[in-house]
Amino acid sequence: MTEPSKTESTVDQLKPMPDDWQRALAVVAHPDDLEYGCSAAIAAWTDAGREVTYVLATRGEAGIDTLDPAECGPLREREQLASAAVVGVSEVEFLDHRDGVVEYGIALRRDIAAAIRKYRPELVITLNHRDTWGGVGWNTPDHVAVGRATLDAAADAGNRWIFPELADQGLEPWNGVRWVAVAGSATPTHAVDATPGLERAVRSLLEHRTYIEVLTEEDPETYVRGFLIGFAESMGERFGGKPAVAFELFGR
Ligand SMILES: [Zn+2]
Repeated sequence: MTEPSKTESTVDQLKPMPDDWQRALAVVAHPDDLEYGCSAAIAAWTDAGREVTYVLATRGEAGIDTLDPAECGPLREREQLASAAVVGVSEVEFLDHRDGVVEYGIALRRDIAAAIRKYRPELVITLNHRDTWGGVGWNTPDHVAVGRATLDAAADAGNRWIFPELADQGLEPWNGVRWVAVAGSATPTHAVDATPGLERAVRSLLEHRTYIEVLTEEDPETYVRGFLIGFAESMGERFGGKPAVAFELFGR
């Protein structure tokens, strides 16, 4: 029997992401998570005048084998600030959890709920919180912990009695999060046209140069371009043939 070819009519199409919002907060574990995951979408959003803020649980200080964390943390922080600026993001906050051993739990939920109360987003973005990237590609514990805690904190932020100490610090409850969008999910539901932001997404990921030079023997630009464009094109098969950044969207 011949397999039917995967055309638009046989592959589930992704829905367009909602665009009736003004403020987004992206919460991830490491420098480069957003640049691998979804920065073409972020570039398109900031172009349209929306505000996007980044919160990182760690400084990625355990990410480079040949660099001591004390040296690596500040370097990766600088690379992250530069890569955020390329896609129109000027505010980047670090929660200073320890890279590689981020624990899912009350402390992480509280720190993320505090950030949500501070920035008052309608859309929260995070990275794949599931055990795998799909199939047998095992995810890292930091991504799982931060993704899950972010999904939970979207609700925690609105409840006055879950972390009452936050109100004492001037962070009043914020119950305005309408969606949490998970990038890098193996089961996406929605997408954004990556075309207008793709070139800046390439430059944004390239700002993590020290990390990428250690990661691959390839020329950094060839590697980054191949990875991001290949991924956007594969998602595009489910988005009318346009290169796409896909998200699994959880409504609230
Ligand atoms: Zn990561």
